Amino acid sequence: MRDTILFLSTNREAGTCGLADALLMGLAPDGGLFLPARFPTFSRAQLRELVGRTYPEVAFAVLRQYTAGLLDDADLEAICHDAYDFPVPLERVHRRRHLLRLDRGPTASFKDFAARMMARLMGRLVKPGDERLVILTATSGDTGSAVARAFAGVPGVDVVVLFPVDEVSPRQRRQMTTIGGNVSTFAVSGKFDDCQAMVKKAFVDPLLSGIRLSSANSINIGRLLPQSVYYVYSYVQLADVDAGEPIVFSVPCGNFGDLVGGLLAARCGVPVERFVVATNANDEVPRFFSTASYSRLEPSRVCISNAMNVGHPSNLARLVHLYGGRLTESGELLELPDMDRIRADMWAISIDDQQTRDTIATAWRRHSVLLEPHGAVGWAGLDAFFASGETPPDTLAVSLETAHPAKFPDELRRLTGVEPQTPPGLARVDSLPEYCESLEVDYRQFRAELVDRFPGG
Ligand SMILES: *Cc1c(COP(=O)(O)O)cnc(C)c1O
Repeated sequence: MRDTILFLSTNREAGTCGLADALLMGLAPDGGLFLPARFPTFSRAQLRELVGRTYPEVAFAVLRQYTAGLLDDADLEAICHDAYDFPVPLERVHRRRHLLRLDRGPTASFKDFAARMMARLMGRLVKPGDERLVILTATSGDTGSAVARAFAGVPGVDVVVLFPVDEVSPRQRRQMTTIGGNVSTFAVSGKFDDCQAMVKKAFVDPLLSGIRLSSANSINIGRLLPQSVYYVYSYVQLADVDAGEPIVFSVPCGNFGDLVGGLLAARCGVPVERFVVATNANDEVPRFFSTASYSRLEPSRVCISNAMNVGHPSNLARLVHLYGGRLTESGELLELPDMDRIRADMWAISIDDQQTRDTIATAWRRHSVLLEPHGAVGWAGLDAFFASGETPPDTLAVSLETAHPAKFPDELRRLTGVEPQTPPGLARVDSLPEYCESLEVDYRQFRAELVDRFPGG
């Protein structure tokens, strides 16, 4: 029998709670972010048992450590197979350096890994006969697509997505609006911030207290735990597990959820020699690691790796907590974490757009490997790490590719002369009918739409 793992808050004021409450609350009652109160540990023998297993099998072995009390093993196993029904390619590029492609899910970004698991876990919290759970999400593009697609058809759950009508690409819009069924979409004649503000108001509106509202944004623990699985998976696929061989991971970072998933995997026993923390020109974290003083970047810098244009990463509070420090939501460092341990575990670097483009061109010319801007930031970081001489050149290494090259056809055509093939899932939405309503930036109108759709309120 596994002991239940509880979840604590990075603000350290709220008590611990179980996974179900952490999933439904999203944010801890003291405004902090949830983290596991202790970590399951995989011994070398347990890791060896995972060698040669499929991705859903590894996901099951990792996630069952956290889900005791929420659902039984057979149920979780079925969920893992259902959520991860797409390939997770590991490509050797040169020497012992590999690329992990996390871009083969239905919306072609790595956010599918988290969104698809979280949707299924939350679906389990809704029992037949229960009130329906309504997930409200404001999005500027990729997150909304992944979340809407992940929750599509989940029984007992409805999804409402608000997006700024002029700020998402036609294909991003169609990824959300062609789903229909339990997914409602609103094209808001305003900015992303307007969408976000209306969603936040709805959460605290007493007139909506009869509707069971929840959120699927990136700080939910349900999106974090699944992001530790692919680190375990690549380790057991590539490493000499019996020898306890160390591995280097390079992670392209924006809001730092992906990296914190890696830190969890390391705490669970994956022998990670170093994480290369690769940001674009938004270099607030690399500066923090070198100076031990943190200041957010405002406004954030616009780079071609646009999903990483973040001036104050929301998951940094989790990273700081894991090293004994404390960071507030607004970016104030109340307690300094153990910087020596941070530097021993992580090697941070900022990669600008010029280096990103050079990396895409060089990877294609030298290795016939097609990168897109986010993955290229990670790959450039890995190159720089090896060039620094911090580790022998034949150390096992994996760099994460987080989006599909076909999302950036113009950039890639210019840099490589290659036309990336659009995956069928992305192309499919071009010919489907759209279900979408228009919405002014008018909270009363939005409330009326919610009450109309979910009369329980
Ligand atoms: C969200 C995103 C990232 C950044 O991931 P974080 O967890 O926010 O650090 C990187 N690449 C792509 C393609 C993304 O969509």
